[in-house]
Amino acid sequence: MGKKWARRNFLRTVGATVLTLPVMTTTAAAAQADFVWPVSDHINSPYGPRGSGYHYGVDIDGETEDPIYASRAGTAYAAEDPGGYGQYVYIDHGDGYVSEYGHVNSYDVYDGEWVERGEQIAGMGTTGSSTGVHVHLEIEHDGSPQSIPGDKGDWVTQGEPIPKDFPGIGGTDTGNYYSWPTYSRGDQSEGVYSIQYLLEEQGYNLNYHDGIYGSEVENTVESFQSSQGLSVDGIVGPNTWEELYVTVYDANNDPYWATYGAQHHLRYDQGYSISVDGYYGPETEGAVEDFQSNAGLTVDGIVGHDTWQALMDL
Ligand SMILES: [Zn+2]
Repeated sequence: MGKKWARRNFLRTVGATVLTLPVMTTTAAAAQADFVWPVSDHINSPYGPRGSGYHYGVDIDGETEDPIYASRAGTAYAAEDPGGYGQYVYIDHGDGYVSEYGHVNSYDVYDGEWVERGEQIAGMGTTGSSTGVHVHLEIEHDGSPQSIPGDKGDWVTQGEPIPKDFPGIGGTDTGNYYSWPTYSRGDQSEGVYSIQYLLEEQGYNLNYHDGIYGSEVENTVESFQSSQGLSVDGIVGPNTWEELYVTVYDANNDPYWATYGAQHHLRYDQGYSISVDGYYGPETEGAVEDFQSNAGLTVDGIVGHDTWQALMDL
């Protein structure tokens, strides 16, 4: 995954230079994510059956005292299980979810300490029943271990979302942990391009597709809000987004402007080297699926509610 993000940043730079696009500000991909990887290294033992019995977590390689970071915020505890996880840290996330980090060499938390996602909680080690330096990461819900994806040899990057084979926050299948940003007059960003393209999709003709929230966007948003029975304030917040986004399914159901807007965002915000032409083909599908995987969403190639929301939020 590390290479991919580097490539994206490179493409973002190239896009901004060659096409003289305004420089966009972006937030870290994982800023709003659910669980994130606690370390950066290879998986050496995946979740599932193995010779010594069922493995209810993933083991990720590392060196002694490599820092381990919280996968998600919660109340941390330093614990010990000499014959099993050895010294370990577990974090109670408060909604039935608990994450555990086994075989640590040292603790960076005290019992009952609140930790934020990404905060250092322990140093990697080999305590307990361990065949080499690694962290055993386990995520439980109401006491039941949850499947964590990844194969032996896969590289994982600390801070990036863990693709979800488990429901996560809110208990939904698709992980509704992204939120709609709010845009209003004076804003200038990639998200405003999406508003302009989605307004076109909703039947409005705009003179400008420039990522700038000026009077034309404001007036058009007010017309749209009025037509939808929304309160008319010219600001695109959660309620307006819910009516504004249009789902892009596949090559047979690819509304032109919605597809164009999704492609534009994937290319110029997320750095995918794809054509922005309003037509959904294999290239667009590949980018959508890769984005969904990285965002921890269901990977189905459909730009629907959750994917639009993640595109706007990340
Ligand atoms: Zn393990």
